[in-house]
Amino acid sequence: MDTDPKHTLGRLVGPAGPEVGCDACFDELDRYVELELAGQDADAAVPGLGAHLEGCPACREEYESLRALVGGERS
Ligand SMILES: [Zn+2]
Repeated sequence: MDTDPKHTLGRLVGPAGPEVGCDACFDELDRYVELELAGQDADAAVPGLGAHLEGCPACREEYESLRALVGGERS
């Protein structure tokens, strides 16, 4: 059995699908919210970010305050 932690991690994060971490999430959040408020498909433009928001309360909170802020400015 292979117990090398690096190999185990490699399997966990492998190229199975779009995975967005918190750092990448914060980097793309502005763009994601802009697209969403513009009525475009933000999930297609930033794959995996919506899924990350679903599972990450911290980023979800950031997303909601950003959305309120940007949306508020425009209405
Ligand atoms: Zn996160």
